[in-house]
Amino acid sequence: MTPSDKLGRELRDLRISLTDRCNLRCFFCMPEGQEYEFLKREEILSFEEIARVVRIVKNLGVKKVRLTGGEPLLRRHLEKLVGMIREEVEDIALTTNGLLLKEKIKDLFFAGLKRVTVSLPSLRDERLSRIVSRNVKVGQILEGIYKSIEIGVLVKVNMCVVKGVNEDEILDFVEFFRPLRVEVRFIEFMDVGNLNGWSLERVFSAKDILQTISSHYKVQPLGRSKKGETANRFSLEDGYTFGIIASVTEPFCGECNRLRLTADGKLLTCLFASKGYDLKSLLRAGVEDSQIENFIRTVWENRSDKYSEERLELLKKGIKPKKIEMFKIGG
Ligand code: SAM
Ligand code: SF4
Ligand code: SF4
Repeated sequence: MTPSDKLGRELRDLRISLTDRCNLRCFFCMPEGQEYEFLKREEILSFEEIARVVRIVKNLGVKKVRLTGGEPLLRRHLEKLVGMIREEVEDIALTTNGLLLKEKIKDLFFAGLKRVTVSLPSLRDERLSRIVSRNVKVGQILEGIYKSIEIGVLVKVNMCVVKGVNEDEILDFVEFFRPLRVEVRFIEFMDVGNLNGWSLERVFSAKDILQTISSHYKVQPLGRSKKGETANRFSLEDGYTFGIIASVTEPFCGECNRLRLTADGKLLTCLFASKGYDLKSLLRAGVEDSQIENFIRTVWENRSDKYSEERLELLKKGIKPKKIEMFKIGG
């Protein structure tokens, strides 16, 4: 039976971080100039261990798996994992920065991956390179997107919007991706981790994002496509849809049905968690699946997280909880 947490929310979605490494250094996630300590190979869950977790959480109601990171495409032969879990869940998606997408998407597609979200914070070469702290051309990422579309993979684009950095490109994103029928999801800059220099003043709000688009297009609200979905969706007159993820100004904790698994096998019950629950030791202790299922069920049933709803109150009180970094969790 699907477990419910203390706030009555059911478990539906598992987000799996494949690695804590990344080939970019986006300032809003993993700023350059910090000393990062990465996991060692033996600390990272094997594909067999991950597939076992997916088989088990399926019994607990999980229907959807998202592969993420760090940069998940840095994990070699990721298609093997996709092949191992494709029969277990209704939906497998991948979030990637897109740099390695062009070379990897074909194998992933044939293994069973049908949906990809590509994160792209700017359509301007110079700005993109500044944001990701690497010399990257927009065209490199677009090639991966075009190839995915050509193969038949459903592509979405995530644009993390930061005030004073890229909000002047919101309309450019709509104009560029509308003819391609690629849904863009505009994400409010979030206070994930402790290193990204977040402040409320740097958040370009969902309301402002919508206002920007509505000043040029007739916009129709569609709401959330499913209970627990993060994006509020909208359509334009020609049927093109886009989404806004307003974790800061319009928190949606009341429907949060996501559990997260880090690359080193910790279960996290919230994107803003300060600690995880050690599943890896159990996976490596030679116990039965039923024991692992019970452990995950207990973690979920005792969960009462609603950080985004509490954020402003905490800010007012000057409380800054220490959080796990985004590149360890995967968004
Ligand atoms: N490396 C992959 C990528 O960039 O798509 C997957 C991991 S990344 C942590 C997952 C998503 O989190 C990306 O879409 C990224 O734009 C988003 N993200 C990272 N830091 C963020 C922040 N501070 N606020 C909002 N979104 C953020
Ligand atoms: Fe890497 Fe993704 Fe974080 Fe950018 S957002 S630093 S690509 S993990
Ligand atoms: Fe879920 Fe935590 Fe985000 Fe709220 S803040 S929606 S509980 S992950």
